[in-house]
Amino acid sequence: MLNFYPGPAKVYPEVRTYMTDAYDQGILGAPHRGEQFVQLSRATVGLIKRKLNIPEDYYIFFTSSATECWEILIQSLTKHKSYHIYNGSFGEKWCDYAKKLRPKSEGIAFDLNEPMPVEQLNISADTELICFTQNETSNGTQVSATTILNLHNRYRDTLIAVDATSSMAGLNLKIIKADIWFASVQKCFGLPSGLGVMVCSPRAIFRAKQIAERGHYNSLVGMYEKMLNYQTTHTPNVLGIYLLRRMLEDRPFIKGLEQELVDRSAMLYEFFGQLPDMQLLVENEEVRSKTVVAIQASERLVDDIKKRALHHNIRLGNGYGPWARTTFRVANFPAILNEEYEELKRFFLHYYS
Ligand SMILES: *Cc1c(COP(=O)(O)O)cnc(C)c1O
Repeated sequence: MLNFYPGPAKVYPEVRTYMTDAYDQGILGAPHRGEQFVQLSRATVGLIKRKLNIPEDYYIFFTSSATECWEILIQSLTKHKSYHIYNGSFGEKWCDYAKKLRPKSEGIAFDLNEPMPVEQLNISADTELICFTQNETSNGTQVSATTILNLHNRYRDTLIAVDATSSMAGLNLKIIKADIWFASVQKCFGLPSGLGVMVCSPRAIFRAKQIAERGHYNSLVGMYEKMLNYQTTHTPNVLGIYLLRRMLEDRPFIKGLEQELVDRSAMLYEFFGQLPDMQLLVENEEVRSKTVVAIQASERLVDDIKKRALHHNIRLGNGYGPWARTTFRVANFPAILNEEYEELKRFFLHYYS
């Protein structure tokens, strides 16, 4: 089965060996306060920083998902309100959760074909956290590095949190331009679900200590204190962390990997852009995602293509949210091989012939 679903996505085939190795090495039953786990955790944190180009003074945390990160950040870094800028379902959901915890939180939606409107933002001084989604998986848009830099320059005193769930470990993100970045591993990391990675600046940790929110097992100060010793507040997904370590060891540095993905995304947009009876969902090239390609067509065509693809052992991504029935999505993730995209292209060319 060729899997182009944008998460849970194709896992690296090496995962099979890594899993057997984890079993054989006795890591799966090891106590999470013991030396074996601490060594694994420390090695994994080092690799995350080195392979993903994360500044040495940033802190790494293991969570269970990106959704959990949404909650942790609102819980532990805001007392009054956060401000959310979104153009799709994931950004909007984060905003909805924030409003449940902090009713004064605000959100602003922007158009699919527009860059994130940094100049038009009117964020009040009592806002404690600015939140946005770098790569909106639901519609295949992205916020560029330049836009993030502009946001950073305009709101230097406010913490900025970035949902990078479907781009971290795929793109060479400019981590220093925001305080918090997070992702789950079932997207660009090419691993099975059930583990999240959260990256925090020294300033974010300073702020968490100031607020000193300790009401939850996953309160950020508690997580920070445990992580000083490479431990977690609860028994973590040890297998997930092991797989992450192995995968990162075997992977090239993010800079080269990003270039390959960017080139491949250009190929995909060109290919899907010229097929009859369908168009790219995102017309503005500037805001198109490099890792998730969304293609729009009639409900009937989308339905038929997905079915025919499955018949050929090809899994395309469903549309999401308001675009659920009129789009399909194709992941451009590192674990998927170039040959697999060649086969995907052959399927589409054959479909029309
Ligand atoms: C997949 C995804 C999530 C949710 O990830 P979980 O692991 O299910 O919590 C959040 N945000 C974005 C942008 C995503 O793509």
